[in-house]
Amino acid sequence: MSTNETDVIVVGGGLAGLAAANRVAQDGLTVRVFEQSADEAYLCNSRYTGGLFHVAMDDMAGDPAWVKANLERTTRGTADPALADALTQNARRTLRWLSSLGVRFIQAGPDGLRRNALAPPGVRQTGLNWRGRAGDVMLRTLAQTLQARGGQLQRGAAARRLLMDGERCVGVEVRMADGQAYEARAKAVVLADGGFQGNAELVRRFITPRPDRLLQRNAQSGQGAGLLMAEAVGARLAGTDRFYGHVQHRKAMSDPALWPYPVLDSLATGGIVVDAAARRFCDEGLGGVYVTNAIAGLDDPLSAAIVFDDAIWNGPGKDWLLPANPYLLSAGGHLVTADSLSALAGQLGLDASALEATVAGYNRVVAGEAVADQPRRSSQPYKAWPIGKGPFHAVEVCAGITYTMGGIATNAKGQVLHTSDRVIAGLYAAGACTGGLEGGGEAAGYSGGLSKSGVFGMLAGEAIVAQLREVAHG
Ligand SMILES: Cc1cc2nc3c(=O)[nH]c(=O)nc-3n(C[C@H](O)[C@H](O)[C@H](O)COP(=O)(O)OP(=O)(O)OC[C@H]3O[C@@H](n4cnc5c(N)ncnc54)[C@H](O)[C@@H]3O)c2cc1C
Repeated sequence: MSTNETDVIVVGGGLAGLAAANRVAQDGLTVRVFEQSADEAYLCNSRYTGGLFHVAMDDMAGDPAWVKANLERTTRGTADPALADALTQNARRTLRWLSSLGVRFIQAGPDGLRRNALAPPGVRQTGLNWRGRAGDVMLRTLAQTLQARGGQLQRGAAARRLLMDGERCVGVEVRMADGQAYEARAKAVVLADGGFQGNAELVRRFITPRPDRLLQRNAQSGQGAGLLMAEAVGARLAGTDRFYGHVQHRKAMSDPALWPYPVLDSLATGGIVVDAAARRFCDEGLGGVYVTNAIAGLDDPLSAAIVFDDAIWNGPGKDWLLPANPYLLSAGGHLVTADSLSALAGQLGLDASALEATVAGYNRVVAGEAVADQPRRSSQPYKAWPIGKGPFHAVEVCAGITYTMGGIATNAKGQVLHTSDRVIAGLYAAGACTGGLEGGGEAAGYSGGLSKSGVFGMLAGEAIVAQLREVAHG
């Protein structure tokens, strides 16, 4: 083992890590980013990204109070207030700062969701197509800016343990691609490894007993290393039970043409989602991320189907980016269709009378009745459509996990918090490996992956600059 020292070490070369590294390099600090993958175009969620910078699916550059109200509505009051303030007050500034580093944004659509999209835009066809687009270009730009300022991006270096001097973090142990272990010391360490969605054991511990039956709608680079390293030195965790993801066609489990797009959320929130007993099991009106988590929570997450009629197929089915109608079919997906609900049930392998009873009960719920054995159905934010006359349709679905919304607890400066609530000196975390911003439990909501990683990567960098300046000036 050998050692050497820089001012700052960053674990992970995604948006959060490169934002933090660029920010400290901008102020003349020495910085090394350790990236586990040795590939030049190392895969991570920031490279796969659709590239829409938003908060709560709306414009992140709007008036901060309005942006915060959107976030609070989405997370139904469970977002950590300090993190919510930090995100919304620095959102516009982060976009400007990233632009100043050469990251290019365009308006990719008329709505707030697409107002700040990476150029060239990412979401343009089904399946995975990241090369030379959105996140790929952003990461290459940020790596170049970092290197131009003397920062190092060391690929093939996987961090696996934090080095502590008493209660202070003083570096990391990394394993190089050739198998050599290496102790690297620094005055500050930033964990930015992208979450734990790719680690079946952690997904089982926090989210579902059946991790093998979720669709990995991500680059599988987030293996929870940051969370485990932080937990080993006493860090508190927050909101680990929820993930950001989408309802996807079940065939996407084996056919890469069907993920990450088309996303079937609009169909799921327009119609009903039933389990193997043909029963509804969640409030579809609460949105696709909520429904996806509910599917993951089933005894068998590969047993759910969306049921709807023609009006829904031609209404919400055509809504959102690359919607089910027509992209599910053009990408090779399967729409189950029948003239009657009992024939539809037959094709799905469901009990016919159970499905008929569920649809009848659901239609009474939509009409405003309280019906025993039926989950409630919100009509906000997604309108409840009755399931009227045939032909009827269904799509067999699965839960696609994009990234885990919970993780290492931090304060608004990105400093990692100990279970005792004190700050763990020298240790920071940013991006998808952190928790608290999106809240937790049933009420948790999706804030936006890129805004979270960009804003908190930058803020962690700024906090480190301030901290090291303070130390230097005694
Ligand atoms: C298909 C898809 C579409 C998306 N679209 C959008 C969108 O349009 N808008 C939006 O806001 N969000 C979107 N997201 C989410 C968003 O892209 C991510 O939340 C964000 O990019 C995460 O950035 P990050 O830096 O935190 O993590 P990552 O980008 O995952 O980077 C983490 C890095 O850490 C490295 N690493 C992991 N462990 C170690 C270790 N032990 N040592 C060293 N390195 C390690 C990984 O290899 C990886 O390179 C999308 C995600 C996906 C998958």
